[in-house]
Amino acid sequence: MNKHIAVIPGDGIGPEIIKQALAVLDAVAAIYGHSFCCTEVDMGGCAIDAWGDPLPQEMLDKCLAADSVLLGAVGGEKWNHMPSDKRPEKGLLRLRAGMGVYSNNRPAKIWPQLASASPLKKSIVDKGIDFIIVRELIGGIYFGDHKTEVADGQKKATDILSYTEAEIERIGRIGFETARKRRGLLCSVEKSNVLDSSRLWKSVMHRLAAEYPDVTLVDMLVDNCAMQIVKNPAQFDVIVTENMFGDILSDEASMITGSIGMIPSSSLGATDCGLYEPIHGSAPDIAGTDTANPIGTILSAAMMLRYSFNMAEEAEAIENAVSAALDEGYRTADIMPSDEQEAATCKKVGCSEMGRQIINKLKR
Ligand code: NAD
Repeated sequence: MNKHIAVIPGDGIGPEIIKQALAVLDAVAAIYGHSFCCTEVDMGGCAIDAWGDPLPQEMLDKCLAADSVLLGAVGGEKWNHMPSDKRPEKGLLRLRAGMGVYSNNRPAKIWPQLASASPLKKSIVDKGIDFIIVRELIGGIYFGDHKTEVADGQKKATDILSYTEAEIERIGRIGFETARKRRGLLCSVEKSNVLDSSRLWKSVMHRLAAEYPDVTLVDMLVDNCAMQIVKNPAQFDVIVTENMFGDILSDEASMITGSIGMIPSSSLGATDCGLYEPIHGSAPDIAGTDTANPIGTILSAAMMLRYSFNMAEEAEAIENAVSAALDEGYRTADIMPSDEQEAATCKKVGCSEMGRQIINKLKR
């Protein structure tokens, strides 16, 4: 199969982790007889430096012309002083909106080899952590009007949070469909005791529930959900929530599984063309040191094969290779055990060596 991938290395550790993911895709292509043609796209701080814009239209067009988009990460201190519509993250928001990818899916799953890396007690981890957060991605407060003005002699800042029924319904359906393919339990997270947008969210979810009798719908307030994720994560199968709540909860969920460096994500809309990226940022503190964990990006490439290219076998081959590298004790710094005895059984490697080990273990 021939597929065209728009590749956005971005800033910070972005180019390092993307290099490893592309090497894994090359190896998959060689094993399975596919051809992945990659077009590099500038987005984020590097695009500001080169073009004065975090996502010039021609770069967005390159993404829209591809079969899918693979992203490293964007952002960094250097661009933090820029006005908000010129910051690196604005490029990412415009890319998501331009691609119409309204559903961001982030698995929170503990790899058995990394169970001790979870900050949670063993008794909690042993009950299992395996859930998905389905986050609305192109609506809500991140996309509402933002303004800062002077009122009554002091600065006043306003951010608007609004959702239409249609926006809630389309993400709600993804939540129900995802739960239907898993253990059939959907937790809808909102703040309906305070927010109108959440009351609408809740009512739409309950209307949809009648169409999915095989799925059990549970409502949960976002503050309670933040507590439950650390207290009893085994209770969750699929969480569906709005943009900002999902942003925060999915970072929390990533930490309980060990490291933010391990978690991939997919963002999809009405077509098969998706955006695939690790959930972490550009990690400027470790950029250029070859210490970043490339696994979140490599697993994002696997998700791309599964969800956009219908290559489930190839995706599984990558996941098995990651598991085999972990089985043999290979660990980047972020997933090294803190316990000395356990650490002695592991081999600490950098970003490029982890990529090489995963490729070595790739097999049909
Ligand atoms: P971050 O995710 O970049 O880093 C948080 C911590 O996790 C850091 O200590 C970092 O070293 C570590 N970390 C992250 N990814 C890692 C990896 N693959 N391997 C090992 N350790 C890893 O979050 P931050 O520090 O809040 O943000 C840094 C920059 O990234 C900011 O400019 C922010 O706006 C941007 N950002 C971008 C995205 C994106 O591109 N999707 C997402 C979040 C943040």
